[in-house]
Amino acid sequence: YAGAMAEPTIFERIVAREIPAEIVLEDDEIIAFADIAPKAELHVLVVPKTARYRDVVELAAGDPDLLAAMVRAAKAIALERADGDFRLVFNTGELAGQTVFHVHAHVLAGADLTEESL
Ligand code: 5GP
Repeated sequence: YAGAMAEPTIFERIVAREIPAEIVLEDDEIIAFADIAPKAELHVLVVPKTARYRDVVELAAGDPDLLAAMVRAAKAIALERADGDFRLVFNTGELAGQTVFHVHAHVLAGADLTEESL
């Protein structure tokens, strides 16, 4: 697959412990860590460990169970670290602001998000 040939992304380097991150949840398939530039009181990135999928569209087609596991992880993190409610964002493509082409979900929670637009 393409990911095996390409330069590792920053997220693969976090999975490999080559660069540090504030890890909040990890299992065999998923790692979640604090975003380095938080946009909400709680801002965590939920990342599948496999580099096979560049965005959520590819992930949904290739491994819907893994996508569901990411949603469950987001809920667990929001329950543990905020009030249980959260916004889940998948930037998909450069024009939508995606900068890391290894699928990841932004979990935003903590403060009142109701007054912010997307
Ligand atoms: P995207 O724009 O691709 O959806 O989101 C990438 C996110 O990764 C950004 O919110 C950015 O702040 C975060 N990020 C980029 N580099 C690092 C890093 O080295 N460590 C952590 N924890 N987050 C990072």
